Amino acid sequence: MPLTTDIQIHAVNVLVIGSGAAGLRAAIAAAAGCEVLIVGKRPRTDAHTVLAAGGINAVLDTSDPADSWQQHFADTYKEGYGLGDPAMIEIMVRKAPDAIRELADWAPP
Ligand SMILES: Cc1cc2nc3c(=O)[nH]c(=O)nc-3n(C[C@H](O)[C@H](O)[C@H](O)COP(=O)(O)OP(=O)(O)OC[C@H]3O[C@@H](n4cnc5c(N)ncnc54)[C@H](O)[C@@H]3O)c2cc1C
Repeated sequence: MPLTTDIQIHAVNVLVIGSGAAGLRAAIAAAAGCEVLIVGKRPRTDAHTVLAAGGINAVLDTSDPADSWQQHFADTYKEGYGLGDPAMIEIMVRKAPDAIRELADWAPP
């Protein structure tokens, strides 16, 4: 493969590698007082985040009063065929409501 000569130099405080949801959320957090550069190896339209169907689950206490983080945990573990790390799933389902509310309230600076 030939070496590219199209080299650009940027000096920033934080470099985020990956422009999916995880990278973009990290960039938002880092952007408070820092200059951030996001780099991805594929076009922006090719990240799983862009290809996803768009459903996000969290227990928000808005529809089913019997819903709980424990039920969300059980559903997630079962739908993952028992392959998910229970400790990671618990963190995700416990933090999901705050993350969804944060996304809903977020506005570009
Ligand atoms: C068709 C489809 C439907 C889905 N539907 C849902 C859904 O309904 N609900 C749901 O919750 N989840 C869904 N998912 C899963 C969800 O999209 C992913 O779990 C989530 O988007 C992952 O986000 P991410 O930021 O970790 O990764 P990605 O969005 O994949 O981003 C990774 C980024 O890293 C970059 N990268 C990778 N390697 C390198 C490297 N070496 N150097 C530089 N950059 C690199 C990539 O180019 C990309 O920009 C779906 C996924 C797919 C594919």
